[in-house]
Amino acid sequence: MKFVETERIRALPPYLFLDIDRKKRAALEAGRDVIDFGMGDPDQPTHAFIIDAMNAALRKPANHRYPIGGGLAPFRRAIAEFVQRRYGVTVDPTREVLALIGSKEGIGHLPLAVVNPGQTVLIPSPGYPVYRAGTIFAGGVPHVFELAPERDWRPDFSTIPSEVAKQAVLIFLNYPNNPTGATADLKFLAEAVAFAREYGLLLAYDAAYNDLYLADERPPSVLQVPGARDVAIEFHSASKTFNMTGWRIGFALGNAEVLSALLRIKSNLDTGVFGAIQEATAAAYAGIDRPELHASRELYRARATRMVAGLRACGFEVAPPKATFYVWPRVPRGYDSLRLCTKLLDEADVVCVPGIGFGPNCDAYVRFSLSVPDERIDEALTRMRRLKW
Ligand SMILES: *Cc1c(COP(=O)(O)O)cnc(C)c1O
Repeated sequence: MKFVETERIRALPPYLFLDIDRKKRAALEAGRDVIDFGMGDPDQPTHAFIIDAMNAALRKPANHRYPIGGGLAPFRRAIAEFVQRRYGVTVDPTREVLALIGSKEGIGHLPLAVVNPGQTVLIPSPGYPVYRAGTIFAGGVPHVFELAPERDWRPDFSTIPSEVAKQAVLIFLNYPNNPTGATADLKFLAEAVAFAREYGLLLAYDAAYNDLYLADERPPSVLQVPGARDVAIEFHSASKTFNMTGWRIGFALGNAEVLSALLRIKSNLDTGVFGAIQEATAAAYAGIDRPELHASRELYRARATRMVAGLRACGFEVAPPKATFYVWPRVPRGYDSLRLCTKLLDEADVVCVPGIGFGPNCDAYVRFSLSVPDERIDEALTRMRRLKW
């Protein structure tokens, strides 16, 4: 056969964690006691009330058939009710809500619907790697803009050259932010909407962590900005909020024309989200104010406090996250992110993710995911305190 890797596969960034992954596997095979802060994947099980809803939904024959379209009517209605309750925003459940097989799926496919080959896409650094991959698959040209630590990891839109912004069709933003744990307020979101409007861009706002807030203030929706749905869509995910990463469901909200274009791409590739999962997720969002969800945020808040205090005691400079379950310390002087991760793995059997994987301006940071119980956090910190720098 004539198989060669396609240009679009070769255009993907190199997989920087290959070496770390290999070392981690070797350590596990050698029976070493590895403590893994790598993957952003909750260690807690899906809440029982959601599993109960799933059990009932599984028994309905209607759910055994193709779940054609952008989401079953009861799912879309439940989401619209959630958005109304949580953000005071009215969305039309049939046109302004779209079910996704995880928000990653929607984010990855979005450029196929809205970017022509050669068009520019504005991508934040640090940023979730799928923004770039989806852009490349659509033949788009990524232009990276920096989130500035001194601006609380928000961008200064005026630093994006206007010739670039004029060429661009799409901008990605993500708050609460993976990997930094930074949040955005409505004032910033209004600035982002104004920037998108000025240059005729689609703003794709990734709100996967909107319900994992650790501070008192709850993160806003971009759709709270007046007129935002003219230029924006917003991605949500059940994954991190409800410990449902394995279930694969999320949704997009906002601009009806864009969601309809995304559905046209999707309906040629997939045939929707399993109906029973949609039903269970409708129950999840209806139950978002339940004590289990509060307890879940408390758990991450306590872990974040523990981890930040412990890292500071090891000499790391680190700010407590305002949301998400990530801690994002600076690496010690004399290290880059890959060297630090390698040292932690080699000498302490502790796995974290090098910042450089999130963007070129992140080589002075590493990410710890708090998907590890207290005793293991303490054990990791004890090992790290013994290291020589
Ligand atoms: C985890 C994550 C997602 C995707 O989650 P799904 O499981 O695909 O819904 C999207 N964006 C960011 C920033 C994430 O960290």
